[in-house]
Amino acid sequence: MAEASSIRPQSAASIEQWDFEADVVVAGYGIAGVSASIEAARAGADVLVLERTSGWGGAAALAGGFIYLGGGTPLQQALGFEDSPANMKSFMMAALGPGADEEKITDYCEGSVEHYNWLVDNGVPFKESFYGQPGWETPFDDGLMYSGGENSAPFNTIATPAPRGHVPQMSGKRTGEKGGGFMLMKPLIETAESLGVRAEYDMRVQRLVVDGDRVVGIIAKQYGKEVAVRARTGVVLATGSFAYNEAMIQSYAPRLIGRPGAAIEEHDGKAIQMAQALGADLAHMDATEVAFFGDPQLMIRGILVNGRGQRYVNEDTYPGRIGQETLLRNENQAYLIIDEASYEEGCAADSSTPFFRFQPKWVAETVEELESDMGLPEGTLQSTVEVYNRHAARGEDPVLGKKKEWVKPIGSPVAALDLRNFTAGFTLGGLRTSINSEVIHVSGEPIPGLFAAGRCTAGVCAGGYASGTSLGDGSFYGRRAGISAAKG
Ligand SMILES: Cc1cc2nc3c(=O)[nH]c(=O)nc-3n(C[C@H](O)[C@H](O)[C@H](O)COP(=O)(O)OP(=O)(O)OC[C@H]3O[C@@H](n4cnc5c(N)ncnc54)[C@H](O)[C@@H]3O)c2cc1C
Repeated sequence: MAEASSIRPQSAASIEQWDFEADVVVAGYGIAGVSASIEAARAGADVLVLERTSGWGGAAALAGGFIYLGGGTPLQQALGFEDSPANMKSFMMAALGPGADEEKITDYCEGSVEHYNWLVDNGVPFKESFYGQPGWETPFDDGLMYSGGENSAPFNTIATPAPRGHVPQMSGKRTGEKGGGFMLMKPLIETAESLGVRAEYDMRVQRLVVDGDRVVGIIAKQYGKEVAVRARTGVVLATGSFAYNEAMIQSYAPRLIGRPGAAIEEHDGKAIQMAQALGADLAHMDATEVAFFGDPQLMIRGILVNGRGQRYVNEDTYPGRIGQETLLRNENQAYLIIDEASYEEGCAADSSTPFFRFQPKWVAETVEELESDMGLPEGTLQSTVEVYNRHAARGEDPVLGKKKEWVKPIGSPVAALDLRNFTAGFTLGGLRTSINSEVIHVSGEPIPGLFAAGRCTAGVCAGGYASGTSLGDGSFYGRRAGISAAKG
């Protein structure tokens, strides 16, 4: 077959011979891909997955494993937390915008309990225990945790707080390397295999094949050779974000230039471009998740200030929100101001991220001295600490609403940790899809035969983020993509 480097769609009439055929062809064997495969196979389709690497898993298998679920899941109920789809929706609409997709969020919240049961029925294990300490993740094998700032300002006054970070049980975790995501992927892959789903590895998807307006296949590259793969009923794109596509990052999400994180190099935006070449619409391309390399057990015990010595976020919130506030709205400038006693207490507490407990860069007897050593304009940090301490003496934080249990006046000696430029992240925008995971053309109509899910699509997050929403909407809308693609 003639080699063509373009991502432009290729006409089916130009294909002399199909190298592979299936009813449903899925590109990418991460969370969205496996979920699509299972449901397509259960709908009676013959399913073939094309995966670029030599094995299944994608970013999902490396992930911490939070899956954002609620509305009263059996795990929430067993652990004594009340939630409802309406309450979950109130939080998600407030926290994941601006511009959050209300139809998708309503649908996601209403289907959340069923989705939890689906995961359990497919072998994903959740331990009945709640982890209530500040942290990026549980360092243990607990099944439930707050993962989006639900129990802190401003969201704790908008919706009734309920933890929704559901984590598959896994022992011997190492954050960023070996997490609960593996115990999400493994049982799902085993389920797919038991349903007869086939996979071709080292197969890099290149462009779509069309017959008129309809997508009928994919051209991929395997071991240097181009192959044509026919999809009798539908193609599902599930190849992840564009975090590692430098040109796209420059165009759409420039704050992330040079700082991809919680993604894999295979997330190069290819699926988005392949579908764009067919006229697909995009959404929320500027939205980004932002991780912050601070240990929550320390941050919560101090105050975070920006490059002007001013507080800008309640330190007891979801650390990903701290990351967004720091990178997107405070020029990536952050210092943690903390007294010695609180620093020692934080260092002694449990944490999944002890490697984010940095040594203080500056230590002083007084805030005035610290401010001067840090090179901050005179009076800036002093007035910040003075206002904070004045209210903290009564256990209050009227400026940013940090919870009473964590508000304590800052004493002496006092230190500053230099957390400037300590962020990384991945992209949340992508193909605009319907709640049935159809890829939407710029005209507003679905593109026949083309479906997508996961981080190559714009999901439930339009701006804000909560841990678990990627594995959450990836699996939820992956399932929908499989069902829709099997129908054709
Ligand atoms: C360390 C870490 C921790 C994380 N923690 C969480 C968490 O706790 N909760 C959460 O919700 N999210 C978390 N994430 C993010 C989450 O893992 C991803 O956003 C999610 O996996 C995206 O799902 P996906 O199916 O779109 O992509 P993936 O799961 O990455 O799957 C995409 C697959 O497509 C393949 N692929 C790419 N290009 C091609 C191509 N051209 N042809 C064929 N195949 C291709 C890739 O190799 C990959 O296997 C974390 C990520 C990391 C790395």
